Amino acid sequence: MKRKKTKKIFVGSVAVGGGAPVSVQSMTNTDTRDVKATVSQIKRLEKAGCDIARVAVPDDEASETLREIVKKVNIPVVADIHFDYRLAVKSIDSGAACIRINPGNIGNIKRLEKIIYKAAEADIPIRVGVNSGSLEKDILKKYGHPTAEALVESALRNIDLIEKMNFKNIKVSIKSSDVITSIEAYRNLSKKVRYPLHIGITEAGTAFSGTVKASVGLGILLNEGIGDTMRVSLSADPVKEVFAGFKILKSLGLRSRGPELISCPTCARQQADVIQIAQRIEKKISGFKSQFKVAVMGCEVNGPGEAKEADIGLAGSKKYGVIFKKGKIVKKVSKKDMFEAFFEEVKKLETN
Ligand code: SF4
Repeated sequence: MKRKKTKKIFVGSVAVGGGAPVSVQSMTNTDTRDVKATVSQIKRLEKAGCDIARVAVPDDEASETLREIVKKVNIPVVADIHFDYRLAVKSIDSGAACIRINPGNIGNIKRLEKIIYKAAEADIPIRVGVNSGSLEKDILKKYGHPTAEALVESALRNIDLIEKMNFKNIKVSIKSSDVITSIEAYRNLSKKVRYPLHIGITEAGTAFSGTVKASVGLGILLNEGIGDTMRVSLSADPVKEVFAGFKILKSLGLRSRGPELISCPTCARQQADVIQIAQRIEKKISGFKSQFKVAVMGCEVNGPGEAKEADIGLAGSKKYGVIFKKGKIVKKVSKKDMFEAFFEEVKKLETN
């Protein structure tokens, strides 16, 4: 699929837009004032492949601890600021690689200017983050509720404010918790600006329903070439956001990281507990980096054939389990040792 042409910016060392791979972001849910907990969470995100981490900076203390956090992690850190321009300025001093603000809630032009001038001096981008929950009053009055048009109007107004300050190191997000509204808003915005777009469905929900919503919304946008960086927002461990992000990108052939698990839907022919084995394997390979396909299939009759594209697979049989490679059975193992024997073979494919 053809990606929409956008301007390339850099968040730390990560290129965003201009044809760069779609980056996967997440946001910490630790207290930013707790350096140890926040660094440890960002390290887990790094391990999962996260490209950019965002932290909330709610007060002065957090803007100070940010300095320590930035030094101790390897991926760029974005400071998320609400209302208080001083915290944005301090976060830039502390080494934030980008500042996320909603210019409309910074108070006045003078305060916004202070942030923009500081970002220009530090040569870091600003993410203009428009959100359906924090639209300007007059825009909300005009449209009645946070429609796609309202989100776009707010984004364009805020971009214009910043451009007038001669600042163009920008990326933009316009998030709604409604999938259709988000899709329409991003489609519309992508026709009007060349800035890279950070796509996401806000307050998407829990791990399961949020991933479904994000996959539908972000999948449609990405398939139309829209979106340069993304976050799957979940009420769950942020690491799950990264896994979900990569799975979306992998399904669209945009980026891949780590192995892919395929498993059969199970039926009356199954001779192995596919659901349980697939879940265990998925957990075990979640940190792997090499790219290969693993299959877990219920029966020997159809499994190896149906999953012949898999590099390694396991299928159940009446008395034992069969391990197959590219559709060919290479080993028979007792049911009791089936999982361990299979995982031993899977591990051999992890070469990184
Ligand atoms: Fe049923 Fe076997 Fe196909 Fe699984 S692989 S769905 S058990 S026929």
